[in-house]
Amino acid sequence: RREALAAERHLPAQTRDGHTITLRANIATTIDARAATTTNADGVGLLRTELPFLDATEWPSEAQHRSVLRPVLRALAGHPVTVRTLDYADDKLPPFLSGGRTGRLGRGLPLMLAEPDAFARQFRAVLATAGDCDVRIMIPMVATPGELDACRHILNRVAHDLGVAPPPLGAMIELPEAVAAADDIASRADFLSIGSNDLTGQILGLDRRDPALTPQLAAHPAVLRAIADTIAAAHRQHERVSVCGDAAAHPLVVPLLAGLGCDVLSTAPAHLDQVRATIRRLDHTTCANIAHHALTLTTAEQVWDVVREHCSPRL
Ligand code: PEP
Ligand code: MG
Repeated sequence: RREALAAERHLPAQTRDGHTITLRANIATTIDARAATTTNADGVGLLRTELPFLDATEWPSEAQHRSVLRPVLRALAGHPVTVRTLDYADDKLPPFLSGGRTGRLGRGLPLMLAEPDAFARQFRAVLATAGDCDVRIMIPMVATPGELDACRHILNRVAHDLGVAPPPLGAMIELPEAVAAADDIASRADFLSIGSNDLTGQILGLDRRDPALTPQLAAHPAVLRAIADTIAAAHRQHERVSVCGDAAAHPLVVPLLAGLGCDVLSTAPAHLDQVRATIRRLDHTTCANIAHHALTLTTAEQVWDVVREHCSPRL
């Protein structure tokens, strides 16, 4: 079965009625980067950069960022790569930031904006190692449009100093505040990416580490409404929007994301073949109908039943 899926890697992620979705990879290492190209991903939708620095004793230097980024970006020459800036949060805090300074769960961005030089060092390393990659920069945990402005200000200054054009800058939408401000954030961003892992936990009041927080819970109507609002806000600005949380690989959620108009799904390379196969089985008109019906329901279970009934009895 695995080989049969791999044999279809060259086929587009297109529904039976001709709606195409871009598939990208979530990666952190050079090995992941190679897996992304092997599985024929359209580049990388999420490069997690904090993982090599979870044991850091201070904010990483530009040289440290470069040494992590260089081999990864080299393996992705010619491809789009979405580099996410350091996303330190309560569930991934290095020793120098632990000690209760993050406040509410998942508030990494204010920490970093309080250290604009830490941001500038990472931006400089990305621009210096981009090589032949089509690099974009993505900011996690954005809560307000002002935070994205502050990031763009630092990025523009770094790009100006290096004499290069600033790359596209995107915002992750993974906090309820960001959903509420999605139009303003979209108007300042070049693209949006929905972090369904954090967004689902935030909306349903579940801790990131709670085993009850599963990818398929993104099908909860309250989460779907947040995703639908975010997609509509991005599309009003003629921007593309991706989903890069684990829900983007779940067969019970993929039809809903497709139906809500999500342009890009970004998943672990190990799931890409399966997601492509799922999309190729779907009918986009049916997905749009069930997604809009799902928005009117009350529980995740009701939504799963609708997806099972209309998309695949085997799910
Ligand atoms: C998310 O929150 O959905 C996401 C993609 O980011 P992370 O899992 O790294 O928080
Ligand atoms: Mg997140």
